[in-house]
Amino acid sequence: MSKVIFKCILVTIVMTASCVVITNAIHVAVHSPDSVTNLIAVVCPVLVTPPMIYLCLRQSEKLRGTLSELNRLMQELETTNARLFEASLRDNMTGLLNRETFFDRMEALRRQGPGSLLIVDADHFKKINDNHGHYTGDAALIAIAQCILRCIGEDDCAGRIGGEEFAIFLATADEAEVRGVAECIRAEVCSHVLTSADGADVPLSVSIGGVAGVAAGTVKEHFRTADRRLYDAKRRGRNCVSVRSPAKNSA
Ligand code: GH3
Ligand code: MG
Ligand code: MG
Repeated sequence: MSKVIFKCILVTIVMTASCVVITNAIHVAVHSPDSVTNLIAVVCPVLVTPPMIYLCLRQSEKLRGTLSELNRLMQELETTNARLFEASLRDNMTGLLNRETFFDRMEALRRQGPGSLLIVDADHFKKINDNHGHYTGDAALIAIAQCILRCIGEDDCAGRIGGEEFAIFLATADEAEVRGVAECIRAEVCSHVLTSADGADVPLSVSIGGVAGVAAGTVKEHFRTADRRLYDAKRRGRNCVSVRSPAKNSA
């Protein structure tokens, strides 16, 4: 506010001085000095300039305030947009990548370096829902996702690709290493203690099928192979791992 008043006084002085100089210059030019005209040259700008300048400066101050508020809102919008975009890539319940994003990311990652695929499926999951309710089923899915995250590294990625089915891309083609991660997940899930809403212990287990080394071939082919191995693991009694390179027989 004091800045506005200061600017107002300054402009008034400049305007008044300019009017006096111009009026006098005209008087000298036409050889007719007139003290009344001189007075008018002072009074008019002194009266008219301050309110005009005051209004202009007030408006520009308001505009500056509005602009900085607009900038703040734009930044907020950018942050919200980034958060929404990130959320759109993920499964709401577990926080892992959603199916579509997982497939896209796997396709991109395997072009950049070695990689392997694991499919993790919860065992007898329907029974968990039937015996303990859907809410406990959801808690089990979240727990399995957490077990997966504890076993994979920063360069790996995991997604929920179906109801009680997860997929993992590991940034290694080393069969022993891939089997090690699969075993880690199986053991983590198996040792997890889940308690249902009514206080009962709910045993959890997963079966895992995997392909170590997915550089050649299509993603679809590798999923088919991993799926076959997953069902080998199911047939072998569940709570177990079946991981090999793509060429090796799945039996
Ligand atoms: P298997 O060991 O052969 O895999 O048996 P399963 O019971 O796990 O497999 P099945 O395909 O028969 O059943 C999967 C169940 O998973 C059925 C479905 O209701 C449940 N399910 C799928 N999505 C969700 C979910 O988001 N929340 C809960 N609570 N259950 C889900
Ligand atoms: Mg299942
Ligand atoms: Mg399934």
